[in-house]
Amino acid sequence: MKEKVYILFCLFILTPFISFAKKVDAPANSWPLEMNSSKNFDIASKCEMLVFIEVFNQFDALSMAEVSTRTKVKNVKENSVSFWKKKTKKRILTNIKSLSNESLQEVVAIQKSNSWEELSKIHLQHVLPSKFQTWYQQTKLFYQSYVKEQIRLAALYPRITSEILQFSKSEIQGHNFTDKHFLLTFDDGPTKVNGNTDKLIKVLNTYDLTGMFFVLGHNLKKRLQSTSKEALINLYGNNTVLSHGDIHKSHQKYTAWKSSIDGTNTLIQDIFYPENKNELLYFRPPYGQRNKQLVNYFDTKNSKIIYWNIDSRDWSSKLNAEKVANRQIKLMLLWRKGILLFHDIHSKSQQSVPMIYKYFKNTGVKWMDSNVVLE
Ligand SMILES: [Zn+2]
Repeated sequence: MKEKVYILFCLFILTPFISFAKKVDAPANSWPLEMNSSKNFDIASKCEMLVFIEVFNQFDALSMAEVSTRTKVKNVKENSVSFWKKKTKKRILTNIKSLSNESLQEVVAIQKSNSWEELSKIHLQHVLPSKFQTWYQQTKLFYQSYVKEQIRLAALYPRITSEILQFSKSEIQGHNFTDKHFLLTFDDGPTKVNGNTDKLIKVLNTYDLTGMFFVLGHNLKKRLQSTSKEALINLYGNNTVLSHGDIHKSHQKYTAWKSSIDGTNTLIQDIFYPENKNELLYFRPPYGQRNKQLVNYFDTKNSKIIYWNIDSRDWSSKLNAEKVANRQIKLMLLWRKGILLFHDIHSKSQQSVPMIYKYFKNTGVKWMDSNVVLE
C-alpha cells in the first residue's frame, strides 16, 4: 500500500515535467502559415531573415573580448569575424531584394530598398500577430545558437579552416547560386551492402532527386570487396560520385594531402568516369579543412572545392530526423539558395530529405541536378 501511495505521489509531482518534455518534442516546425506557394515561401523567408537580423545585431554589438568568451575561442581572428559579418549583411540584403513584391506587405511590412538599419528597427515581438509568437521565440533561440556557431568558425579562421570563408574563387559554398536553387550533398560513404548509402539512394530515386556523394577512398575500397564496379555504378545511378579524400582526416596540416586526393580521384574515375581520367574531380575536404597549397592545386587543375552553406548537423545525437529537417528548412528560407550537407552514413537523411522536399513541394524551390557544373 505504501508503495502505491509513493508511486501516485511521484506521478503527481512529475506530471508537469513530463508534459513539459512533450512540449519540447512537439513538431519542430512551428511556422503558423501554410507553405504551398512561392508567395508563402517568401513570407516565411522574409520573417526568418528579420529574426536573423535581430540576433545578428546582438552579436555585432559584442566586443572581441566578449566574442572570445561567448565562442570559447582564445585568439579571435578579428579580421575574419569582421569579414564574415560584412559578407553576411550583404547576403541578407541581397536576399531581401529577391523577395517577391506580393510578399512584402504580408505579416510584417518591409520594402526592398530598406537598409540594414531600417530593417533592424522593426520590433518583431511587438509587430508579429500572436499566432507567430511561439515561432518567433523558437526562431530567436535557433539563431542565437546558429550565429554563435558561425562566428566561432570565423573567429578560428584561418588558424582552423572551415567552410565559413574561402581563399579562392574556385571554392564554392553555395551562396552565389540562383535564387531558390538548392543542391543536395552527402558525405562519408559508401556504407556496407544494403546499408544507409543504399537506403538513401532508394529514397532519392523515389522523389526523382539526385545528390553529390563525397565518398572516402578508404570506404569505397572496402565496398569494392563485396560489390562489383558495375553494381556500384548501378547503385549510384544518376547521382554524382566525388572525392572526400582517402580517409576522414583534416587536410589542413596533412602532409599526405596530395596522395589522398590523387589516389581517391583515380579510384573514383576508374569506376565511374573512365572516359575522363585526367580530370580532377570536385573535392570536399573533411571538416572543410584545407591549406592554400591544396586550394592552389585545384585552381591550377581548373577544378573546384565544394563546401556547404546549409549544414544539417545530422551527425549530432541531439537532433532527430525531424529537427534536422527543420534546421535545413529554416536555413533554406534564410539563405534562399545553396548547398545542403548531409551524411549518408547516418540514417537521418533518409527521413529528413523527404520531409524537406514535401514541405517545399509547391513553392518554386528548384532542386539542382547533381551533374551540374559549378561556377
Ligand atoms: Zn566528412
